[in-house]
Amino acid sequence: MSTARIADHRHDPATRERRARGIVADHAREIAESAQGAIYKVPGGVGVYVVSLSRQVCECADFSHRGAPCKHLLAAEIVSAKSAVCADCARRYLGRDLYEVTEDHESLTWFPGDRLCGPCAMAHGIV
Ligand SMILES: [Zn+2]
Ligand SMILES: [Zn+2]
Repeated sequence: MSTARIADHRHDPATRERRARGIVADHAREIAESAQGAIYKVPGGVGVYVVSLSRQVCECADFSHRGAPCKHLLAAEIVSAKSAVCADCARRYLGRDLYEVTEDHESLTWFPGDRLCGPCAMAHGIV
């Protein structure tokens, strides 16, 4: 039956992975900046879904029916890997939005390798 084939296609892990990458391509910044600890808000489908990476759960119907990683959870994992927490304000930002403290800053507060978000880097004279 055609409905069974559609369901099979929808449950293909490769399809989920591809959809997760699509979500990340469109929404990486807002997903990163939505993070509260390990909790991410991921858009996709009809709304925005809350994902907990520490518990490995998503609130969407797909996840609750299958209990396996959905596109939101996969998207949150990709964004988590591409982002880091600002050493000052502790909010999460995409890696490309963070400034790394280098040796020549001679800062007493930050160590080389620390990463700061734009506003914090500006406030501390790192940029
Ligand atoms: Zn989900
Ligand atoms: Zn900051």
